[in-house]
Amino acid sequence: MTHSSGPPAHAESIPLTVVVPNRNAWPVLRRRGMGAIVFVVAGQIGGTNAWDADEPQEQLLDAERILALQSEGVVFGSHAMTHQPLARIGRDRAWEELTRSRAVLADLLGSAPEVVAYPFSNQSRVVRELSARAGYRAAVRGKGRMNSRWTSAFGLRRIKVEHDWTVADLERRLHRERRRVF
Ligand SMILES: [Zn+2]
Repeated sequence: MTHSSGPPAHAESIPLTVVVPNRNAWPVLRRRGMGAIVFVVAGQIGGTNAWDADEPQEQLLDAERILALQSEGVVFGSHAMTHQPLARIGRDRAWEELTRSRAVLADLLGSAPEVVAYPFSNQSRVVRELSARAGYRAAVRGKGRMNSRWTSAFGLRRIKVEHDWTVADLERRLHRERRRVF
């Protein structure tokens, strides 16, 4: 990732998702005073993306690395317990995924995570309500769009930054999104 010009206006309010292989992103964001939130599959801390059996298996963050990043200012959120599509597994299992992952991460981090990212961006009205009742303050899904003040706190959208994007690619995308929203 190289940088060409200054960050766009409102940069602090633009949620980006940097895909897992882009492990160089945090030092770059940190140098620019930007924050980062990393969503953890609480049942796979130190494990792999076992839910993607057909995909190459990536080594996921272990507890030690998570705590080191937390001490550098990275915020952690829940990506559920076992990366199931929460709107399809039934209410009880969805509740279990949301609450157990929150408890596991609270134990590790010292305070409960405030944000959950829905696995596969799969969610529904029931899942949004369960997320709120489980104690989360917000939730994010995919959809590659920006948010307006009318977007539900439990349906926040993200822009996915692929590992081969340049800063110019990202700037083009942000300009296009801003035209669509504002
Ligand atoms: Zn995921």
